[in-house]
Amino acid sequence: MNGDTEPKGTPTNPYLQRYVPPKIEGNFTGKHIITVDQFERKDLQILFDAAISIRKRIHHADRGLTELCAGKIMASLFFEASTRTDMSFQASMRRLGGEVIAASNGVQFSSVYKGENLADTVRAAGCYADVIVLRHPQLGSSYEAAYYLDKLNKRIKNPSVIISGGDGIGEHPTQALLDMFTIYDLKNRSLDNLTITLVGDLRNGRTVHSLAKLLAHYGPQNVSLSFVSPSTLQMPRAIIQMLNDKGMTIYETADLNEVLPHSDVIYWTRVQEERFEDAAAYEAIKDDFIMTPPVLARTKSDAILMHPLPRKNEMGTRDDHDILDEDPRAVYFEQMENGMFIRMALLAKVLRGVYV
Ligand code: ASP
Repeated sequence: MNGDTEPKGTPTNPYLQRYVPPKIEGNFTGKHIITVDQFERKDLQILFDAAISIRKRIHHADRGLTELCAGKIMASLFFEASTRTDMSFQASMRRLGGEVIAASNGVQFSSVYKGENLADTVRAAGCYADVIVLRHPQLGSSYEAAYYLDKLNKRIKNPSVIISGGDGIGEHPTQALLDMFTIYDLKNRSLDNLTITLVGDLRNGRTVHSLAKLLAHYGPQNVSLSFVSPSTLQMPRAIIQMLNDKGMTIYETADLNEVLPHSDVIYWTRVQEERFEDAAAYEAIKDDFIMTPPVLARTKSDAILMHPLPRKNEMGTRDDHDILDEDPRAVYFEQMENGMFIRMALLAKVLRGVYV
């Protein structure tokens, strides 16, 4: 058992206390989306229904979709690498009829290059856009951005909201929403009686932090959780505590064999190399869990294998990219596509509050 409560090298950001994100309570309009703590089960259902409706409408080439965010502008502020979150948000906004702006040569060549602080960069975006998608390496950065944006919104004519696209090693709320939607969609539109196993870097992986918290909404009678990781990469104790307080059944182990054959959902993750201060520590555990066809063969025939992506060695696909992908249990491409439906639903709700 790892005695540490939080990952090393993470200075506590005062804005985590100073800014309290609003609860959704059935109404998304004009609310910053910072943490999954804002959502209740009924809010997830609203989003899932909207995502299903949007998916159908895209399928039928429904032109009305482009009216949902017509005239709205999204600013893309990515201080960290991104493929899916960035592109799916941009695609979502465009499919809804909105426009996207970003610093021409990336945020590193905005005034950030001259030493501008996050609060000022975010407020600049807030003067021009209706919604800002922010990804930043520092834990609590989205709380800080929301705090200063609220102050700005009192002074300007056109208020804006922030949506977190990944908050250091903290949370990745929209990834968890799309992950929950994927489970719901592929498991008969229900999250009942599922054993869900999260594997890999549970300490530094922000997607699993958000996902574990959302799964707690479905209660111990419906969902049981297994966490598989090397002992140095266990789920932060604060999240374990929160899950325990909700009475969730949690099983922590470093032995995949104990849980793999009983799991309905297997959520594989990348060891987050960029969060390690010590290269030797990363090298020592980076290959502890590798998903290969023989490992996948030990799972239930109707299990699903998820991954937030990007994947590296942990998927055992270095020499042959199709080796796992062709198995019907591998659903990470569906997951990736669902990211756009969920983000479209979220943008439409936050910007217009519309029924879709
Ligand atoms: N894309 C996800 C994230 O930004 C997962 C990962 O990077 O491993 O957190």
